[in-house]
Amino acid sequence: MKNTADRIKDINLSEIRKMFENASPDAISLAIGEPDFDTPPHIINALKKALDNKQTHYAHNKGLIELREAIQNKLKKDNNIKTDSESILVTVGASQALYSSIQALINKGDEVIIPDPGFLSYQACVKLAEGTPISTDSTPDNNFNITTDKIEDKITPKTKAIVLNSPSNPTGTVIKKEDIKGISDLATDNDLYIITDEIYENIIYDKKHYSVASFTDNAITINGFSKSYAMTGLRIGYLAAPPEITEDILKVHQYNIASVDTPTQYAALEALNGSQQCVIDMVNEFRKRRDYVVERLNNMGLTCKIPDGAFYIFLKVKNTQEFLNKASKEGVLVVSGKAFGKNAEDYIRISYATSIENLKIAMDRLEKIV
Ligand code: PMP
Repeated sequence: MKNTADRIKDINLSEIRKMFENASPDAISLAIGEPDFDTPPHIINALKKALDNKQTHYAHNKGLIELREAIQNKLKKDNNIKTDSESILVTVGASQALYSSIQALINKGDEVIIPDPGFLSYQACVKLAEGTPISTDSTPDNNFNITTDKIEDKITPKTKAIVLNSPSNPTGTVIKKEDIKGISDLATDNDLYIITDEIYENIIYDKKHYSVASFTDNAITINGFSKSYAMTGLRIGYLAAPPEITEDILKVHQYNIASVDTPTQYAALEALNGSQQCVIDMVNEFRKRRDYVVERLNNMGLTCKIPDGAFYIFLKVKNTQEFLNKASKEGVLVVSGKAFGKNAEDYIRISYATSIENLKIAMDRLEKIV
């Protein structure tokens, strides 16, 4: 028997995950969004130490107080965000922070403006809350950058929230300071929430990251450890919400996961309190890879802009499906722009979160098909 809820029916499983699971062993995957680096040893040691100290019981529903205080300090120091440890929830990755916030905010029929192209979860989470995702009309100019006027155009009386993601997956674009401020003002003036996914904040090259919550009180800041500290498998992230809605988000969080696993929270605490050299080293390596891939692609005649952040290159190709098929035949997996919305069907996403050696082989293979 199959009799599942209607709201599940037009939600698809991630094509990227499926590709990753079905990849042949000698294919080079430029498809997945996770750092290939090992989790830094001091973070692993903190995890081991927590286990040795038998820290294997429930933590506070909101997260360990030491960790929430460390997050509070980090948000103040790095992001110019004033918050308090009671308004922070430690979550199972940024993924669960997104899900819980959207569940807590969105009523059936509420409109949520989401970036298009954008990370797949935004649309799915809005649909799971029976809200209506409204795509931004991003255009390829300036690598699909989100601007204040593009958001303003989409605001209607039904709009409840705006999702922003800077640096962006899949485009690598960093929203300009003036637009972060402009969109924050729109949220304040129209009583809208901004769910701001800042998970790639550290993976940024020549620009500076600005946090929405430093410009408006209506922001829910979402961040995590997966990308900055190569901790994707440890499943930990967090959100910082306006104080008056934290308890309502906690209701979703509490009845969904109770609390994040305790040893992982000690690992995250060490990630924040320990040396940040590991982040600098990883970002330097990402920069070398970005420059290498951009140069190779441009030399092949596939013109692409240098992305400002994250570890993706978003590239226009002539016939996307044909390109994907040929690339996969040659043993290179990339993702179709279609996976990220309706505005970028002629694009592919190349992730350079793999070694220079792999990137070299992958670029040699792509060169054959171009
Ligand atoms: N937001 C974006 C933009 C992402 O790219 C990802 C991971 N691909 C996530 C959130 C989820 O990250 P986490 O591992 O912290 O759940």
